[in-house]
Amino acid sequence: MNAIRGAITVKEDTPEQVREAVSQLLAEISEKNSLKKEDIIYIMFSSTEDIKSFYPAKAAREAGYGTCPLFSAMEPPIEGALPLCIRVLVLTSLEGAPVPVYLGDAALLRRDLTRRLVIALDGPAGSGKSTTAKNLAKDLNILYLDTGAMYRACALECVRRGADISDENSVKSVMDDIDLRIEYKNGRQVTMLDGGDVSEEIRRPEISQLASKVSAFGCVRRKMVEMQRRIAATMSCVMDGRDIGTNVLPNTEHKFYVTASVEVRAKRRYEEDRAKGYEVSYDSIVNDIRERDKRDTEREIAPLRCAEDAVIVDTSDMTPEQAVEFIKNKIQEKI
Ligand code: C5P
Repeated sequence: MNAIRGAITVKEDTPEQVREAVSQLLAEISEKNSLKKEDIIYIMFSSTEDIKSFYPAKAAREAGYGTCPLFSAMEPPIEGALPLCIRVLVLTSLEGAPVPVYLGDAALLRRDLTRRLVIALDGPAGSGKSTTAKNLAKDLNILYLDTGAMYRACALECVRRGADISDENSVKSVMDDIDLRIEYKNGRQVTMLDGGDVSEEIRRPEISQLASKVSAFGCVRRKMVEMQRRIAATMSCVMDGRDIGTNVLPNTEHKFYVTASVEVRAKRRYEEDRAKGYEVSYDSIVNDIRERDKRDTEREIAPLRCAEDAVIVDTSDMTPEQAVEFIKNKIQEKI
């Protein structure tokens, strides 16, 4: 079962406009949610007290939704409320995430639901950025794009083709016809190289170092940034990386720089790698992190740095849940 919310405004309180608005709202809710009339359990309306000419429930019956129970109520006069507004709650037997529909001036009511949200999360390795980004995207029911996975896949392809990673021309010949795709299966990002799923293989510790090397080349960055911008142009997403707020999506209003002390980051990576069965030592991870930080922050093209307008999230003493809550509150303040 799920409950779909929606709202619409009318210009004037006339039976015709109420009929038209209710019919449009329910049609759009049905379309956006692939909802058939027999999937509806009941529909409840509330309307602002300036709507007196017609019952929204009656308008719904007239529009052909009379096979389920319908109900309308009038809201109390609330100071500052959006005038001439009809709200609806449709209870259905469907599973999955409901798509809310806010039309007319009502779109302003829930800008968090109706606006495309593009959230940039940058930060160094092991800062808790990926976990935070993944959980945040799940919480907001939007896409998560791990851009690091894309650079890792480029590095893996260079290894597979025996390219010389220290030579930009050699890397460029790989980039010219790399078959890299990002897909989503069961809400999980799947990185595909030459048609095969490499999501696990790109996590190998040696690929981390190689990814940081190939990502310094312009030919690699240009191609990846173009793919990333194309994704962000069409859908709401949380994008995590090193240069998202500074370079990939400099105009997004939601930018965060997730960081933590080197020791905390090394400890997290150590525990993650051990859990995956990799033989690693804590000291080698500290060195690896320092080396990668140095390369990522000192490279010429799009180095890792905190955008001037980014909010810093230091996760050293935060739980993953606290980091997500902190970011969600900051986003809410802006919308
Ligand atoms: O985040 P992750 O550790 O998977 O990233 C692997 C490497 O890819 C990083 O060390 C960094 O050099 C590079 N990268 C980048 N720009 C991004 C994301 C990752 O340069 N947006």
